[in-house]
Amino acid sequence: MFDIVIRGGSIVDGTGQPAYLGDIGINGDKVVEIGDLSNAQAKEFIEANGMVVSPGFIDTHVHSDAVLLTNPQHPQGLMQGITTEILGQDGLSYAPLSKNNFLEYRRYLKGILGTPPEDMKTNSVSEFRSNYHKKAAINTAYLIAHGALYLEVLGFEDRRMSGDLMTKAKDLVREGMEQGAVGLATGLTYHPHAWSYTEDIVELCKVVNEFDGVYVTHLRDVNVDRAIGGGGIPEALAVGELSSVKVHFSHHRTAEKTAGKVNERMALIDKAKSEGVDVSGDLYPYPTGSTFPMASMPSYVHQGGTQGILDVLSDKDGFKQMSDYFNEINRLSKIIDTESVKSSVDKPVGHTLDLDDTILTYVPGNPEYEGTPVKYVAENMGVSMGEAMCKLLLDSELCIGFWGSPPDNVEIWDQLGKDFLEILSRDDFMVGSDSIHLGKFRHPRAHGTFPRFLGRLRRKYNLISLEKIVNRVTGTPADRFGLNKRGYLKKGFYADVVVFNPETLIDTATYDDPIQYPVGISHVLVNGAIAVSGSKCTGKLNGYSIP
Ligand SMILES: [Zn+2]
Repeated sequence: MFDIVIRGGSIVDGTGQPAYLGDIGINGDKVVEIGDLSNAQAKEFIEANGMVVSPGFIDTHVHSDAVLLTNPQHPQGLMQGITTEILGQDGLSYAPLSKNNFLEYRRYLKGILGTPPEDMKTNSVSEFRSNYHKKAAINTAYLIAHGALYLEVLGFEDRRMSGDLMTKAKDLVREGMEQGAVGLATGLTYHPHAWSYTEDIVELCKVVNEFDGVYVTHLRDVNVDRAIGGGGIPEALAVGELSSVKVHFSHHRTAEKTAGKVNERMALIDKAKSEGVDVSGDLYPYPTGSTFPMASMPSYVHQGGTQGILDVLSDKDGFKQMSDYFNEINRLSKIIDTESVKSSVDKPVGHTLDLDDTILTYVPGNPEYEGTPVKYVAENMGVSMGEAMCKLLLDSELCIGFWGSPPDNVEIWDQLGKDFLEILSRDDFMVGSDSIHLGKFRHPRAHGTFPRFLGRLRRKYNLISLEKIVNRVTGTPADRFGLNKRGYLKKGFYADVVVFNPETLIDTATYDDPIQYPVGISHVLVNGAIAVSGSKCTGKLNGYSIP
């Protein structure tokens, strides 16, 4: 007698091997039998004729750290077939943080993470993990957030992590890894951690490597003079070379100006791999990104955190300096883009932002502007785009999100779709949606990433088999991040399972209508509990804090 039997599906088991017909028997939270169970008894049957049965999908880059606590049902992830999300990305999360530092970072990160409960536990990685265990619909793993670590050790100040302070930081990393973190994540366009020097990151990563953890990085484009190789890809690879840590590149793909240049984009990575650096990466299948404006402010202005920035903006001269700065990085974005066409190898150039192509996604202080280009807001206000940004930042207490406008050329969309599948056909790449779950006009990646890859793009371009693409979102990330007994449909493994129709699976979220759920997924199981049935969430909150 089984708790659940999934009958008659085509089993794509996560290894990349050919699909086969079979039944899956589940007891408790584990898969206990795979084979012909046509005579078996079960409390519940899921009929999967004509459907694919695969392991649950693993999202290796996502910003759900707060929204999983405020909406633990998490339909936008679950209904894509995602059963595990890796948190702490870009170094933007909340552990390890003592209470006051937590409240400070909570305020600072509102524009990208939303607002977690004030009583969230963050003192240690194990406390942090307890916030989610059996309290959210999906499993979560955690990368120690470099931003939190920096804040806890040095505060919101440009200081050097050395001597006793470095010892303290390394102790916190060691403690976090002992308490179940799967690595360390940074984002060297974000503060306070963008004040770090490469050498200091290397020291931290030596500890991560003792635990066979992963160093996950969003590449540096500020304070590039502090970086070995000038930031970007060279710095990340140097960290791997000098600390022996496994390096993982977040959202690494081609974009409008580099469309069709996958080989150039991967050249430095492949060279480092041939020299023994252990590298992997992830990507999402859309042509532009999304973030919050804290990523685009000059480094000095972050001194003092949220209040420091608000003080600068509230001051007449400070306001002018900041709006001039925004206008200047907008101007530079046009020049630097032109150069990157000539040499599409990553050359760190400092941070830029193309305000002409920036669309506001989340503006709680002026919700009528959500979905509107900054350009039009500025025209409406009768000011420059830089000034408009500063006014919006003040009105929303810095809590704003935006995305980059997608290319208007269909051929570029088409080329990028092919590029994304070409990248994912590498066995060292996986899928990180980079979801930000805020605002009416959030980036569509939050609702569409996995079905877009596994349904729409796979069928359209036929560059990678169904079995291989399933492997990239299940077995590959489970192996890379050491997720114990996950990522494969195997006896004795956790019953994280997705049942989907490979012919109809498709994303429906778009840039102008992003809050739309995908089609083609009938069932999702998380640790043996049916979390989606008949394409509807069941309300089960059975996600574990793993590995
Ligand atoms: Zn991110």
